[in-house]
Amino acid sequence: MGSIPSVLEHLTIPTPFNVGPVHIFWLKGEDGWTLVDTGPKTPDALICIERFMQTHKFGFGDIARIVLTHQHVDHSGLAAFVAEKSGASILAHEGAIPYIERDPEFMDWHHEFFRRLYRENGVPEEMLTTVERFQEMMDMYADPALIHGTLADGDGLPGHPDWRTVYTPGHTQNHIALYCEADGLMLSGDFLIKEISSNAFIEPALVREAERPKPLLVYRDTLYRIASMPIKRMLSAHGSEIDDPRGLIQFRLQRQEERATRIAMLLAEGPLTVFELSAHLFPKVYKKEMPLTFSEILGHLDLLERNERVQRVECDGIIRYKNQGK
Ligand SMILES: [Zn+2]
Repeated sequence: MGSIPSVLEHLTIPTPFNVGPVHIFWLKGEDGWTLVDTGPKTPDALICIERFMQTHKFGFGDIARIVLTHQHVDHSGLAAFVAEKSGASILAHEGAIPYIERDPEFMDWHHEFFRRLYRENGVPEEMLTTVERFQEMMDMYADPALIHGTLADGDGLPGHPDWRTVYTPGHTQNHIALYCEADGLMLSGDFLIKEISSNAFIEPALVREAERPKPLLVYRDTLYRIASMPIKRMLSAHGSEIDDPRGLIQFRLQRQEERATRIAMLLAEGPLTVFELSAHLFPKVYKKEMPLTFSEILGHLDLLERNERVQRVECDGIIRYKNQGK
């Protein structure tokens, strides 16, 4: 006897961020509702959730669990509140735990990592306050929440035998998606977004002092892996439905190579720091959106470095990248 397929609903929630509204998903299964992402901790987001529950005639007590695709506040902000109200358990990839629980030792290392990274890549001293602003934003839009269980690649989704976890690192190192094989349908979080390229964010290693993951390289490996799956449709957390995931993945991979080539060309005129490159490539936003533009440039430099097209040169504690002439 087959089990009853889960019922899927979506809810679009406004966010105060440039990315625009976030879609969260509701799966009705054997033991109640599973909420996939929660939206940010804002009064508007909470009103949206409460209205949704009223329309569908259920209450907080009917939410069995919350799955977080990754730690970003537009996805995880209300997790603590909803879990508290409902008694639901919170599930995420194990790599998301120190962020979502706001482990103080990890957060110290996180800030130390970024201060050093920014400094050695040419960011002026007065702009290092970006590191503190990141913490302030986290505190403003998300309460720390306890993770009750972890989801790793291939794990079934409790309460929903038709859904399983797919580990999709790149946008963050702890990103997971949910996949319903019978429908070829993936809830893809920020892994792939139709209208904009998903940023592969620089993050420190989870263990203090270990080498940082190279997010764009990790992301590209995930893109290749997911392209080989028979996925028909993706519902992502931002933007519209993706009905040709493989085509979009090919397009994203190609755009990354083009951007890398553009950076290599800029470096043909002489060595530059990551910060100088961001000013060249993103003159309007590089100061305001530094974590974003910085990740974008450094990620592509990792790719160029792996392909031996650029080389890192260090002088007086500042790293510059130079074109290898290949
Ligand atoms: Zn995100």
